[in-house]
Amino acid sequence: MTDLTYSRLQAHLTRLRLHRALDRLDPIAEEAAKHNWTYLDFLDHLLEEEISARHERDVVMKTKLAHFPFQKTLDQFDFTFQPSISERQVRELATLRFVAQGENVLLLGPPGVGKTHLAIALGVAAIAQSISVYFLTISDRLDLLHKDAKEDRLTERLTTLCKPKLLILDEMGYFPLDRASAQFLFQLVSRRYQKGSIILTSNKSYGDWGDIFADQVLASAILDRLLHFSTTLNIRGQSYRLRDKRKAGVFHDLPEPQKEA
Ligand code: ADP
Ligand code: MG
Repeated sequence: MTDLTYSRLQAHLTRLRLHRALDRLDPIAEEAAKHNWTYLDFLDHLLEEEISARHERDVVMKTKLAHFPFQKTLDQFDFTFQPSISERQVRELATLRFVAQGENVLLLGPPGVGKTHLAIALGVAAIAQSISVYFLTISDRLDLLHKDAKEDRLTERLTTLCKPKLLILDEMGYFPLDRASAQFLFQLVSRRYQKGSIILTSNKSYGDWGDIFADQVLASAILDRLLHFSTTLNIRGQSYRLRDKRKAGVFHDLPEPQKEA
């Protein structure tokens, strides 16, 4: 390759914004010479570098946009501690087929059993497949929702929340929802129905949803849409957060704070 060709190639790669390929051009060309790669092998390696760099950037960007409260993966989840969860079922969910099919996942159980951890881990797995994700803690949202309502921006907010392919709604049921918030949730669930998946976590079993909404009809309408195409994981068992304290004998087992679903 002449110097002229080399500098033209660099200019082309820059112009095409193939920055990683440009960075890796020399070492890959050296490897190609050393191992007698064909032209196709060389091109394949160079483009592979560019593609993986773009994927890494995409993951960083999508992770930022997802607003996870903390970062957790499935491999960090100790399934032996929570035998009520089927690892096989969770791994199947992590293939993200449910997102392709516009289905929902509901994670139910008392505090500390790993609902948020699993929801985030599924979100992280989704991002690895270039699926857009947004994480929302419902209790945090309520104040903002009232602010949006005052500023007449609810429709705008609704549209924004319909964009990500996977929406994680965390902590449903820790606080009761007033009528306006319940209606907003109903609209959100209706709009995403069969189009965009939702992972929802709750410490309340379905039977208690009427209490969250103070409106049985709205509660059943929301549940109806959420559950129509869905998988529910009922997590029973003890809080992982309290496990060390329990081990240290700080206190004995707490009674389960909710009825089983
Ligand atoms: P929940 O949302 O059900 O209240 P979290 O998912 O927030 O519970 O879990 C509380 C903490 O315990 C988190 O730091 C989480 O990573 C950890 N945790 C919970 N269950 C497990 C588990 N089975 N294996 C590893 N870590 C766990
Ligand atoms: Mg949680």
